[in-house]
Amino acid sequence: MVDLQGQYSSIKDQINNSLQEIMDTSAFINGPEVQKFQKELEEYLGVKHVIPCANGTDALQIAMMGLGLKPGDEVITADFTFAATVEVIALLQLTPVLVDVEPDSFNIDPEAIRKAITSKTKAIVPVHLFGQTANMNAIMEIAKEHNLYVIEDNAQAIGANFHSKEGKTIKTGAIGHVGSTSFFPSKNLGCYGDGGAIFTNDDELAHTLRGVVNHGMYERYHHDVVGVNSRLDSFQAAVLRAKLPKLNMYNEARKASAFKYNEAFRGEKHVQTPVRTGDCDTHVFHQYTLKITNGMRDELVKHLNEQEIPCGVYYPIPLHSQKAYIDSRYNEADFPVTNQLVKEVIALPMHTELEDDQIAHIAKTIKDFINK
Ligand SMILES: *Cc1c(COP(=O)(O)O)cnc(C)c1O
Repeated sequence: MVDLQGQYSSIKDQINNSLQEIMDTSAFINGPEVQKFQKELEEYLGVKHVIPCANGTDALQIAMMGLGLKPGDEVITADFTFAATVEVIALLQLTPVLVDVEPDSFNIDPEAIRKAITSKTKAIVPVHLFGQTANMNAIMEIAKEHNLYVIEDNAQAIGANFHSKEGKTIKTGAIGHVGSTSFFPSKNLGCYGDGGAIFTNDDELAHTLRGVVNHGMYERYHHDVVGVNSRLDSFQAAVLRAKLPKLNMYNEARKASAFKYNEAFRGEKHVQTPVRTGDCDTHVFHQYTLKITNGMRDELVKHLNEQEIPCGVYYPIPLHSQKAYIDSRYNEADFPVTNQLVKEVIALPMHTELEDDQIAHIAKTIKDFINK
């Protein structure tokens, strides 16, 4: 699905040299590489504060802790996303409220958010799924109306642009009150292990978050709040510093591959290619996800496996049907889109090193099979 080796070979010397330097200086934790990366990411995203942490799941959890959400507070998020999003809500004893998504963008449906709001609702967590910006104009409006926090799970969309209805272009993750991301190796900006970050433009919240990631400590050995230990290490920061200047180029390469796939599937009755709800800049194709609309998705997965073509089903089970998150409050009739998507979606190989002949071969194999 991804080709990390190919990408590494193009930045090998730079990465090897910075890793060697860290070993020579033993600045393993919170060294200069981490500080520099933080500044560079703030600049790139156009956000006032970046707080690096250990992974994208921690980033979400820390964001919720920093906002002071309390047990029983309801947090609305998408039924169709990776479990990390709902997991941290549950871990903090907040009440997850899963809602349906839109059929074309796969992103949380603002109308479903509206219907789910109660007097206990405190926050909305939109996920910019597969690299495409959620409908943040509508979501920010709902949040403002009901006085809710917006926590953007930006693990799949770093570098994507959002166009506000006031005509501003803002990077995803910097739109809501707080944003989070993951630097897991396969993400659009990935390190060589685990990593994550939290973003905000709010000075006070940033201060709180910097304490939360460090055992609730604002002054050495004074613990004002219950915190966690969540750090980005210097090695990972060095890798990210080498890759950040190339992120736009990497995202352009993904887009170019997506357009080639689109072209190859043009006119196919049973294949729906990804629908972009905004302009080209609002989708950075973390995944290239097709909908197979003639009921052959599972057979196709099996066939591609036999042909040794990688593919993935993100996600095969709606979160509201996962054992850990089943809740009698949910009604199947409230999730028609997610219940359908889990049967139709298939993600194809997508990375920065895809070759035209690979795309052609993958598309032909799929078309031949679907039309057999
Ligand atoms: C990857 C991912 C996460 C979690 O990130 P980790 O670094 O693996 O903890 C959270 N949310 C979404 C949508 C993701 O894709």
